[in-house]
Amino acid sequence: MALKLYDSLTRSLKPLQPANANGVFTFYNCGPTVYAPAHIGNFRTFVVNDVIRRLLDLEFGPDKVKHVRNLTDVDDKTIKRAREEGRALAEVTKQWTDKFHADCDALNCLRPHVEPRAADPKFIDAQRNMIEVLMEKGNAYRAADGSVYFKVSSFDGYGRLSRVKERELQIGTSLSHKSQAVDADEKEDATDFALWKAWKPEDGPNKWTGPKGASDGRPGWHIECSAMSKAILGPTIDLHTGGVDLLFPHHENEIAQSECCNGTTFARHWYHSEHLLVDGKKMSKSLGNLYTLDDLVAKGFSPMAIRYALLAGHPRKQLNFTLDSVHAAKVNLGDLRGWHEFLVIRSGGQRSTPSGHFNSVFDALHDDLNTPAALGALFKTLKSLGITDETPQVQVGSILSAFERVLFAFGFDLSAIDEPKTEAPAEVTALAEKRWAAKQAKDWAAADALRAEITAAGWSMLDRKDGYSLEPLKK
Ligand code: AMP
Ligand code: ZN
Repeated sequence: MALKLYDSLTRSLKPLQPANANGVFTFYNCGPTVYAPAHIGNFRTFVVNDVIRRLLDLEFGPDKVKHVRNLTDVDDKTIKRAREEGRALAEVTKQWTDKFHADCDALNCLRPHVEPRAADPKFIDAQRNMIEVLMEKGNAYRAADGSVYFKVSSFDGYGRLSRVKERELQIGTSLSHKSQAVDADEKEDATDFALWKAWKPEDGPNKWTGPKGASDGRPGWHIECSAMSKAILGPTIDLHTGGVDLLFPHHENEIAQSECCNGTTFARHWYHSEHLLVDGKKMSKSLGNLYTLDDLVAKGFSPMAIRYALLAGHPRKQLNFTLDSVHAAKVNLGDLRGWHEFLVIRSGGQRSTPSGHFNSVFDALHDDLNTPAALGALFKTLKSLGITDETPQVQVGSILSAFERVLFAFGFDLSAIDEPKTEAPAEVTALAEKRWAAKQAKDWAAADALRAEITAAGWSMLDRKDGYSLEPLKK
């Protein structure tokens, strides 16, 4: 079964397929604004997108997927932070970009193939060019202060993604939203949005040559994704993703800019993941209710346990974050490591063609990224493997390979879970000693009976050539 995801535009579940004749699947994920550490709400979105990337790699082959995630390194927030700290914008954004990369690595997220920055001179050029085309085509205009705005009424398709026009009719309010109310006197219509912002004194040294006919200044936020995705992936992309808060206005505006400029479909598939909440409220910098990765690591959790906890809820449903959920994740990862060690020992460490044992896990992942169902299927499958001392090594090797495919898809690095090993109680150790002796004496019946006793006591005995270890079984 191929990966299917809910498409926010058509409101339906659709399989993902590359449109390009070269078979390369193009994937654009809106990235972070780099002015502070990302919080684990942001990382929910990035971890979910990392699982999508991994599933695409498995389905199409790693060289047939092109993944782009941008860095917003020039906007109101980044400029304000640089001004407050009396530092250069580039220095501040580099600091937080490095931190973002370190956190992504700790969470075992694959790096995107390209990570363009909005303030990179070549992408400033790309943004300026796009704005000039929009002005020439009559989709954008210069305001009195030399800024450039997109004329929303010039694009019939505006509101298709967010159904904003329907919502407006229902609640009888205007299309405008809070950030658009700012500078309203510069615009022809309250719904128009900035493509280019003319320089203001508070922007300090941060200004670039404006599009033809406009003042020097800086790009508006939305244009960066339109311009950079076009420059790297072409005018039409196979999949565009982000957190649900980006659906309106950011993605609606991206569609308007790109489709008016390029005259073709911008994204063939839109996927939005839901928010991480704390006490029922969205985790956000402005509410101050956030946890960073470092906060949780300081509490003794591994980044891998946090990754697991972020994937334990359905990505298209809100997830309430609790420390209990990270505790549970830590225990589950310990179990997965136990199973992995068991399979390595029983297979003699040999891998072979993956077996179909974990197909139910992939079925759940492929069905709109149902990660909680997939984790349920994973543990169910592990418990029903029924491997005995007589199971041929080569057979266990193919189960091991299939299990490692699942671990890859989830991005669980079991060498990085730093969970202290639990000591087995004395009576279990005694049973294990007896079983080891029975095995040496080739008394298989006694060895199997003793294994059953060890299992009944909640432990798993992992055999090696020169000895054994004991792992607690999941309850
Ligand atoms: P930002 O750095 O604010 O541009 O956000 C980066 C990404 O994190 C975007 O895709 C947002 O939609 C997403 N995001 C922000 N807050 C949350 C949250 N509480 N839960 C999940 N995703 C979030
Ligand atoms: Zn974007």
